[in-house]
Amino acid sequence: MKYDIRKHISKHMDRLMRSIDKENRSSDDCWPWTGPLMARGSGLFNVDGHRMAVHRVIWTIDRDQWIPEELFVLHTCENKLCCNPEHLYLARRAYTHGEGIIYKEVPEWDLRRYRAK
Ligand SMILES: [Zn+2]
Repeated sequence: MKYDIRKHISKHMDRLMRSIDKENRSSDDCWPWTGPLMARGSGLFNVDGHRMAVHRVIWTIDRDQWIPEELFVLHTCENKLCCNPEHLYLARRAYTHGEGIIYKEVPEWDLRRYRAK
């Protein structure tokens, strides 16, 4: 059984919000994570022993949707620590280009297709 953060987040919500710097920032601004980090530089949120990337937690709570295994949550602002849900979008790995990986946005209305698998 997969761990569904949505079922457990209510008791951790205060802790989550305390680590997001929204002070003097508008809804268009980036909201930086001030908590611990994962090895790759994403924000780390620990819930009941589950180490989760904070931007994935934010996306899931904000959209109230599960993130299909093979999809990524990326930032339109390219600020890895940003927690503004408006700056987050879903993407899939499209192809590799030299050393880099090219991602393609997955529209949220298209999520059903991934779920059906
Ligand atoms: Zn941002």
